[in-house]
Amino acid sequence: MRKPIIAGNWKMYKTPIESVSFIENLLPLIAGHERDEILIFPPFTSLAAAIIATDDHNVRAGAQNMHWLNEGPYTGEISPTMLMAIGCRHVLLGHSEQRLYFGETDDRVNLKLKAAIIHGLTPIVCVGETLTEREDGRTEEIICRQLRTALNNVSSAEARRLVIAYEPVWAIGTGSTATPEIAAEAHRVVRNELASCCGERTAEATRILYGGSVKPDNISDLMAEDGIDGALVGGASLVPETFAKIVHYT
Ligand code: PEP
Repeated sequence: MRKPIIAGNWKMYKTPIESVSFIENLLPLIAGHERDEILIFPPFTSLAAAIIATDDHNVRAGAQNMHWLNEGPYTGEISPTMLMAIGCRHVLLGHSEQRLYFGETDDRVNLKLKAAIIHGLTPIVCVGETLTEREDGRTEEIICRQLRTALNNVSSAEARRLVIAYEPVWAIGTGSTATPEIAAEAHRVVRNELASCCGERTAEATRILYGGSVKPDNISDLMAEDGIDGALVGGASLVPETFAKIVHYT
């Protein structure tokens, strides 16, 4: 059984006060909700406050990125040890905005993924093709390459906490969601590639989320697809009422 995950990626939005206020407003709207694992990913400056505000509740706060080393002369970076020390247990890796604007590479995602596993963090690794790559018929090649490199030298046992987010770049922040059929087809590709990297059992057990303009009015159709195990939500996760509606998909 793959427990679905509904995750909110706040990107570079919300101060600590705004983050705590969001959580205080969200909690009553999702009280008692156990069907899905609920995650939020605030910016680093809000993370400690968000972890405290969500303590003992049915929502957890994770980090949007991290370095792979424990410490060192890397100005502006945050390490897995630092995340663990504030009670953080989830980390997004390889988000397309990191790949696109900040030079994130497949090899670095691999280093980060291995570090996350060693430290006991749950990595949510994002993969997805650009519009040009899709139009050129390279979707499968791109997502398989991103996945294969991310999983280089990762054993099936190590991959057991892994979560993948299929996020077509052309659907992120654009309002044009992938149809459930397109998303489901890409998820099949991801699961097959996972099986060839880490074995059938790991592939069957791994949650694969869809991300890209998920909203309250399209989440149910996406979740109705067999291989879609949840959603990574950007823009629509910034308002508690909207995010709660997504959490309560039917
Ligand atoms: C994201 O940031 O991961 C994302 C999917 O954004 P949006 O929902 O705004 O497209």
